[in-house]
Amino acid sequence: MKVLVTGGLGFIGSHTVVELQNEGFEVVIIDNLSNSSEEVLKGIVAITGKTPIFEKMDLREKPAVQNFFKKHHDIAGVIHFAASKAVGESVENPLLYYENNISSLVYILQELQQKPEANFIFSSSCTVYGQAEKMPITEEAPLQKALSPYGATKQMGEDIITDVAKVTNINAILLRYFNPVGAHPSAEIGELPIGVPQNLIPFITQTGIGMRAELAVYGDDYPTPDGTCIRDYIHVVDLAKAHVVALQRLINKKNATKVEIFNLGTGTGSSVLEVINTFEKVSGKKLPYKIVSRREGDITSAYANTDRANTVLGWKAQSTLEHSLSSAWKWEQKIRS
Ligand code: NAD
Repeated sequence: MKVLVTGGLGFIGSHTVVELQNEGFEVVIIDNLSNSSEEVLKGIVAITGKTPIFEKMDLREKPAVQNFFKKHHDIAGVIHFAASKAVGESVENPLLYYENNISSLVYILQELQQKPEANFIFSSSCTVYGQAEKMPITEEAPLQKALSPYGATKQMGEDIITDVAKVTNINAILLRYFNPVGAHPSAEIGELPIGVPQNLIPFITQTGIGMRAELAVYGDDYPTPDGTCIRDYIHVVDLAKAHVVALQRLINKKNATKVEIFNLGTGTGSSVLEVINTFEKVSGKKLPYKIVSRREGDITSAYANTDRANTVLGWKAQSTLEHSLSSAWKWEQKIRS
């Protein structure tokens, strides 16, 4: 069965392509390489022994999207990762985010709605919950006004898909990721952040390898046991596997409603200082860090209630924080060697 993976050369997309190919799917990737490189294909081939079809294309170009679906009329499902994802950049350049994240989505849905049936999986985010009142966060937690244009595009994306699914033959699953981290255990693929990483784990591994003098810990006066922010770090391979399970659920028509929503996390929250300690343990390195003031837009705590994904999808995260960090560290060492 042929599956389209948009953004399939990116961090989560590339790991999902690997898991799809391992499960026997034929994968077609669309990527414009705005935040990835064609080299990633080599890593995918090294792991799976199979070369996915790659179409270098910008999803903002509507005619290109139309032509793609004419050429590949036998697509059984679409997993839509392609988007811009830097929160700070979205504040600086909101139109880039509204154009890239929304128009791409609309153009794909316009093609899918012409089909007798279509299966669609969307990369959403726990940012839709803002600072939730109760931990762990269930899918029923109320959504809060987004703090950035990036966050707004995830909420809008969910709304657009829900509206369209109501009146078309599109069935969809919205996956709300917590904090994806780590790399494939083979170290053939992983995260490739451009510039100073916005996320904790690449910042830690780049500091560990000596690329950065010290790690900045944004605030130690939050109302948490050690004063630092708490997040739910989910290994990217676990996350990738959830996409395969979700796709199979749609293809096999096991979905209970036209649009289903699942949190994807481990269910465990870890503080920044806990992550640093764990990194020091797995790497055997002392990590230089300093506490700086809070960063605007950071919430105190977010970790998932994963009951729905565990029982309904039949998926559960397997990796521990130790395993996630050691895979990230192995990847960092490989790309700097
Ligand atoms: P990524 O930047 O590594 O991957 C996105 C890929 O999409 C890149 O390869 C990029 O080149 C491609 N792309 C972007 N715009 C495109 C366009 N117009 N046409 C074609 N290709 C395009 O990001 P990621 O971390 O793998 O994230 C994947 C998805 O998951 C995104 O939608 C992101 O918003 C969402 N998400 C990510 C996180 C995270 O922390 N990584 C958390 C929650 C949600």
